[in-house]
Amino acid sequence: MAEHLAALERSGADARPVRRPEELAAVHGIVLPGGESTTMTRLLDTFELYEPLRERLAAGLPAFGSCAGMIMLAREVLDQDPQLPAVRPLGALDVAVRRNAFGRQVDSFETDLEFTGITDGPVHAVFIRAPWVEKVGDGVEVLASVPEDPDTTGRGGAAGRIVAVRQGPVLATAFHPELVSGDERVHRYFAQIVRAQ
Ligand code: GLN
Repeated sequence: MAEHLAALERSGADARPVRRPEELAAVHGIVLPGGESTTMTRLLDTFELYEPLRERLAAGLPAFGSCAGMIMLAREVLDQDPQLPAVRPLGALDVAVRRNAFGRQVDSFETDLEFTGITDGPVHAVFIRAPWVEKVGDGVEVLASVPEDPDTTGRGGAAGRIVAVRQGPVLATAFHPELVSGDERVHRYFAQIVRAQ
């Protein structure tokens, strides 16, 4: 969360943490950070934010989710284990995602991506137990996929997988742009979406 707040501030946004429904009511856009989507589901319930957030997203609140945040924004989470606590995604993005999709052996990696809408060079992408997007609905624009390169070859069929999407004012990345210090381009892209609303 701290890294997102810092990157948003550097993008010229007035960023603040949201922990209570009153704070949610005051923002013009929201970032859902990485973490653990089962825990995030539980925390949203505990802080009585799940329903208010779902409603604001349904009403068109701009949102950006990274990694677990992408999972929370999805319509469907594939292959949930009925023995484990469930992720209850918010359904703001018409995609199905697979959690921890890049494999259990080597589950973190970094690579450079072409990102539609960011034209001044590739985006460095840090993946940490990341999901990928497996199905996209008609209204969803694919912004980035994993390239075929030495960093990604053999990683559970990583190459070609969809890892950044946008549907109207909702943006999501399977990776963590907030962890790449000195490059706020994805956050600036999101700040522009918010300002355009
Ligand atoms: N593996 C986590 C999940 O499924 C996401 C990891 C992350 O956000 N870096 O929720």
